[in-house]
Amino acid sequence: MADNQLNDQAIPERAVKKAEALKEPPAPKTAMSIHAHPDDQEFTVAGTLAKWARAGCEIVTVCITSGDAGSNEKTHPNMTKLTLARIREEEQRNACSVLGVKHVEFLHYSDGTLQPTLELRRDLTRLIRQYKPEVVICGDPTVRFYGNSYMNHPDHRIAGDVALDAVFPSAGTRFIFPELLIEGLEPHEVRKVFIHGSEKGETYIDISQVMDVKVAALKEHKSQLHDWDPTEMMREWAKDEGKEGGLEAAESFRVMILKEDEKEKGSEKEKAEAKEATA
Ligand SMILES: [Zn+2]
Repeated sequence: MADNQLNDQAIPERAVKKAEALKEPPAPKTAMSIHAHPDDQEFTVAGTLAKWARAGCEIVTVCITSGDAGSNEKTHPNMTKLTLARIREEEQRNACSVLGVKHVEFLHYSDGTLQPTLELRRDLTRLIRQYKPEVVICGDPTVRFYGNSYMNHPDHRIAGDVALDAVFPSAGTRFIFPELLIEGLEPHEVRKVFIHGSEKGETYIDISQVMDVKVAALKEHKSQLHDWDPTEMMREWAKDEGKEGGLEAAESFRVMILKEDEKEKGSEKEKAEAKEATA
């Protein structure tokens, strides 16, 4: 029998592990969402951002490109890259205000040809040191294929890859990019990274109460949606992502804990002690 066919409840250790994974982490105080294109965050993590914003989290959205390549079927042949960039930046700002995201930063890299350069890593490191987020949210750079019909966009992979490199080791290490010290930007250690689109997404955020907000934010990307209503597809995705976690509507993440806070340390210790006591 394949390992994953075993019933979790039949293996106490695995049942405990699963219950822990299913416990939703509290909203952080500050978060930074880093993506390649306007609309990437609305399609993927906007429910989590809306929920956190409502819990008082101060969020900054970083858009590496301005989506100036558009998409062939939705972009009018007379459109220019510059005009499209302006339209899409405006749409991203509107989407962020629907979500309750306070700050939006555009890095103006060219859409469709993103490369994992040190310049990009420095730009992201600069923003992390400026805003000092507790949590960074980005996509999983290791996923090349989703099913048999979507090959992950190279910009998405690069954005995730460089965001992670900026988080670690660049943002927290004094002498990586010493020029940032001259700008007055001291090292900052990000505590957690929430990675979406991952095959190991075992942390679930229940977005049932903010599903409408997520859809409304996505609808701000009018130049991309035109008259297509994404509501049904977004509900299907949320249902799908929530299934494993026993939730009606969710976004799932692989969460990397780089620096535990004192409270978590305590609970980790308690967990270890409880485990020892029952061993
Ligand atoms: Zn995209």
